[in-house]
Amino acid sequence: MAPEARAAAFAALRARALACVKCAHLAASRKTVVFGVGNPEAQLMFVGEAPGADEDAQGEPFVGRAGELLTKIIQATGLQRGDVYIANILKCRPDTPGQTSGNRPPRPEEMATCLPYLHEQIDLIRPKVLVALGATAVKGLLGNTLGISKLRGTWQTYRGIPLMPTYHPAYLVRTQAVSDKRKVWEDMLAVMEKLAMPISAKQRNFFLHAP
Ligand code: URA
Repeated sequence: MAPEARAAAFAALRARALACVKCAHLAASRKTVVFGVGNPEAQLMFVGEAPGADEDAQGEPFVGRAGELLTKIIQATGLQRGDVYIANILKCRPDTPGQTSGNRPPRPEEMATCLPYLHEQIDLIRPKVLVALGATAVKGLLGNTLGISKLRGTWQTYRGIPLMPTYHPAYLVRTQAVSDKRKVWEDMLAVMEKLAMPISAKQRNFFLHAP
């Protein structure tokens, strides 16, 4: 698809998502609809779970603590956030009535309602590689409920597109385990190889030795 046609189709899709009220409870509680960010011509696309409080406030995916880590992971490959595309299974923050903080995972019916937007995003971008961040992204894209620790590091396929499942950066923020950081990095090395990106010896060795 020509870049102009793709940009127009993307803008129309974004406008539909921003006006969406299919989940009345989420439409009522959200500050923004977090559609997605990045390059619609990207070869690499990341899919997360759902916006948190920071993302809901700013209207952009992965801008909180987990987002900062995702940005670092992207930069470690030699790319910038603007080179890739980042989206979530859910475009609205899951509501937590009666709570002033905290998150909850998306419900199956919320995922089913919102997923068509993500499918359309992927169909328009047609990335060469997808990275599913965490169990919810894997479940939403593949319907696969095998544990993420079993699936990560193993190539899957979403509508003909190679998909790499890996741990969610929020999990890495929580555990701080170097061994888990290395696992995510190995998944990213596999992604870089699939995209025929250059990989330096230094990059190959990231997180191999405890600090
Ligand atoms: N976690 C996600 O899965 N997505 C975001 O956008 C932010 C945090």
